[in-house]
Amino acid sequence: MDCQTLIRYLSDYIDRELDETLAAEARDHLATCPNCSVVLDSTQKMILMSKFTGQVAIPKTRREKLWSEIEAAFRERKAED
Ligand SMILES: [Zn+2]
Repeated sequence: MDCQTLIRYLSDYIDRELDETLAAEARDHLATCPNCSVVLDSTQKMILMSKFTGQVAIPKTRREKLWSEIEAAFRERKAED
């Protein structure tokens, strides 16, 4: 699994909606990719924090927009290499 695929599935991964094969691939990628584990970490913190402060968790549609922005950022970085 590469970073772009991981980012695409990250929302479902956090919600535990991924099937076992994809979840295992996501776990493998996260274990070896510092970039994606930072994204996962900050996203989970963001979700936790919003629960903590009593705000409604970020709607899935909003998060998916966020993923596509992160994905675009990855793409731009790759293009610079
Ligand atoms: Zn990655």
